[in-house]
Amino acid sequence: MSRIARYCALCGRPLSERILGGRERPYCAACKQPVYFDPKVAVVVFIEQDDKVLLIQRAVDPGQGFWALPAGFVDHDEAPEAAAVRETLEETGLVVRIDKLLAVYPKRDDGLADIVIAYSATVISGEAKAGDDAADAGWFTREDLPPLVFYPSITLTNKWRAGALVL
Ligand SMILES: [Zn+2]
Repeated sequence: MSRIARYCALCGRPLSERILGGRERPYCAACKQPVYFDPKVAVVVFIEQDDKVLLIQRAVDPGQGFWALPAGFVDHDEAPEAAAVRETLEETGLVVRIDKLLAVYPKRDDGLADIVIAYSATVISGEAKAGDDAADAGWFTREDLPPLVFYPSITLTNKWRAGALVL
């Protein structure tokens, strides 16, 4: 997603452009401050139980109606593991324990995050039921996977189906 800044967040004056670190960046001449656009970071959680994977059906675009692993953005002051636990609870009603870092993905499609951190997790308590921006939540075997969306969910689930995902 391209980013635009027209006014300085510190003083409100219009920004100019300046080459810094090899690329053009918005710059406030009054504050002598460049604007650095930080990547949006998301977490995605792979939860297997009884040879089934937990998926949520997306209630909103992008990907409305398709299925994906529980996921969401990391708050600016939040640990990624804490965000993974929080998002899983919000979307599925399940309390989980994070087990392992599985992968870090760059942006590859129209998913909203620039960087996606994937964890495996184990259910501690609760029953799967949809919440937040999920229309549905459920457990799926390797043979009955629904249509998936977003590179991290598709990649991890395909690896799992092939028996190549070490959780
Ligand atoms: Zn300024």
